[in-house]
Amino acid sequence: MKPSLPQNDPNKEQRQDHLNRQQKSYLFDYNALSPLALLKDVPLGENFSSKYIRERILATSELPANMLATDSRSFLDPLDELEDYEDLFTLLPLPQVAKIYQTDRSFAEQRLSGANPMVLRLLDASDPRAQTLAQISNFHPLFDLRQELEQKNIYIADYTGSDEHYRAPSKIGGGSYEKGRKFLPKPLAFFAWRWTGMRDRGELVPIAIQLDPQPDSYLYTPFDPPVDWLFAKLCVQVADANHHEMSSHLGLTHLVMEPIAIVTARQLAKNHPLSLLLKPHFRFMLFNNELARSYLIAPGGPVDDLLSGSLPETIEIAREACSNWSLDQFAFPTELKNRGMDDPNQLPHYPYRDDGLLLWNAIETFVCGYLKFFYPTNEALVQDVELQSWAKELASDEGGKVKGMPSKIDTIEQLIKIVTTIIFTCGPQHSAVNFPQYEYMAFAANMPLAAYRDIPKITASGTREVITEKDILRLLPPYKRAADQLKTMFILAAYRYDRLGYYDKSFCELYQMSFDEVFAGTPIGLLANQFQQNLNMAEQRIDANNQRRVIPYLSMKPSLVLNSISV
Ligand code: MN
Repeated sequence: MKPSLPQNDPNKEQRQDHLNRQQKSYLFDYNALSPLALLKDVPLGENFSSKYIRERILATSELPANMLATDSRSFLDPLDELEDYEDLFTLLPLPQVAKIYQTDRSFAEQRLSGANPMVLRLLDASDPRAQTLAQISNFHPLFDLRQELEQKNIYIADYTGSDEHYRAPSKIGGGSYEKGRKFLPKPLAFFAWRWTGMRDRGELVPIAIQLDPQPDSYLYTPFDPPVDWLFAKLCVQVADANHHEMSSHLGLTHLVMEPIAIVTARQLAKNHPLSLLLKPHFRFMLFNNELARSYLIAPGGPVDDLLSGSLPETIEIAREACSNWSLDQFAFPTELKNRGMDDPNQLPHYPYRDDGLLLWNAIETFVCGYLKFFYPTNEALVQDVELQSWAKELASDEGGKVKGMPSKIDTIEQLIKIVTTIIFTCGPQHSAVNFPQYEYMAFAANMPLAAYRDIPKITASGTREVITEKDILRLLPPYKRAADQLKTMFILAAYRYDRLGYYDKSFCELYQMSFDEVFAGTPIGLLANQFQQNLNMAEQRIDANNQRRVIPYLSMKPSLVLNSISV
C-alpha cells in the first residue's frame, strides 16, 4: 500500500469501489442517543484484536482476588468509619489520595491536576455569581472581595446547572437503589489563588462552598466545624465525579470523536494520507464506544448503579455536553482561554495546562510536517475530492453534525488545526481523564459517584440541620457500591494498548505493514522519529515540573498517554 491523494492515484476505480463498500458498512444512527451522530453497527474490522483482549485480561488479573478478599469481609452499612474505605483495597494498591483527600490542599489541587481538571474557571468581577461570595467578608475581615476579583484571583467550579456550559444538573432529581434514593448535590465552589504559601510559589485554596443553589443559602467555609466543611467538600466531589464521567470523559472524548471516526472511514480511502494519519488515533474506539453503550450505560449497568441520577437523567449530562462541544472551541489552547485559565502569570500552577501544552505543541509540529508534505500547496488540498467530502460530511446535519467544523477546507493551516485537535482529543485529552480514574476515583471516599444522603435541610425558622460524622458516612456510598466503584474504575484504567506517537503496533495490526514500510521513500518516518523525540523531551520537562509539585501530575506524561480512545 502506497499513500496517495485521490488526484494522484492511478487506481481510481479500486479506490471508489472501496469507498462505496465503506459507505454501506459505516452507517449513522441518530436514534441511539438522539440527536448525536453515532455508528449503527460496528464492522468486524473495528473489534478489539486478540492481542488487545489478551493483554487487557492480563492487566486486570489482580482484580478478582482483590474483590473476593473484599467480599469475604463483613462491613457495616453504612460503613462504621472513613478508614473502612481503605479496607476495600485488599491486594490492589491503595491510591495515594486516600491519605490526603480530606485536606484542603488535595481538594483544591484536584481542580488543577486531578481526574477532572476541566471545570474550574476564572470568575469575572461582573459575574453575578460573585455576589454569592459577598457573605464571605462576614467571616473573614481581611478578605477584600472586590480587590481579589479585580486582580483575577477568584475561581469558580459551578455544578448548579445554571452555568451556561453545564445546565444538565438542574434536571437531575436523583436515582434510586435497593435501600432508597441517591442524590446529586449541585454545589457552587469558590477558590482563591493565594500568592503566598506553598514555598512562596502560591497555591489555590478553597474559600467557600454553597450547597443549595438558592441566592442566600448558607455558604460553607473552612472556618466551619471540620465535619461540616468536609461534608460540603464531598458534595463537590460527588458533583465533580458525575461531571467527569458523563461530560469530560464519555461525552467530550468518546462520543464527540465517534462521528469523526465514522466519516473518516466513509470518505477517505485506505491509503489516503489523512486516513493513515488518523486511523491509529481511532483504533478500537468505535467498538469500545459500542461496548460503553451496551454495557456501561445500559439499564442495570455501572452508570445506572453507581452514578447519582436515574439512568436517563445521567445520560442527559453526556448528551448535553456533546451538544455544547465544538471542534474549534475545544482546540486545547482555545478551551483553556475560554475558561480564563490560559495565563501562567495569572495562574502560575495548572499542571493540566502546562503539561498538556507541551503535548499539544509536539502533536501540532508533527501534523504540520506531515500534512505539508502531502499538501505542498493549498491547491492540492482544494483538489482533493475525498478531503472535501470528508469536511462536508463532518459538518453536515445529515452527516457527522460536528459543530465548529468547516464544510470546505481552503488552507493547510485550517486543516492542521482541525487534525491537531482531533489527535489531541483522542490521545492526551482522553488519557488525562481516563487513567486518573484509579488514583482519584477508585477510592470512593475521595470521589463518590453518588450521594446517598441529601444536603442538610434548613428548617422553617432558618436553622440548619446539624451534621455529624455519621452523616458523612451516610452521604458516602455503602460498601457494596464502593466496592463496585473500585472494580469499575480499576477495569477502565488498568490497560494501555499503545503509546502516543508510536504507530507500529496499530499499523502492523491494521495494514500488516510497519509504519516505515508504508511510508518508505517519504520523509514521514523521520518526522515520526522527531515527534517521538519531542514527546520524550516533553516527558523530561514534565518529570522536572513534578519535582516542584507537591502532588505529581502523571496524566499527561507522554509515556502514559495512548494514541486512541481504546479503553
Ligand atoms: Mn475511556
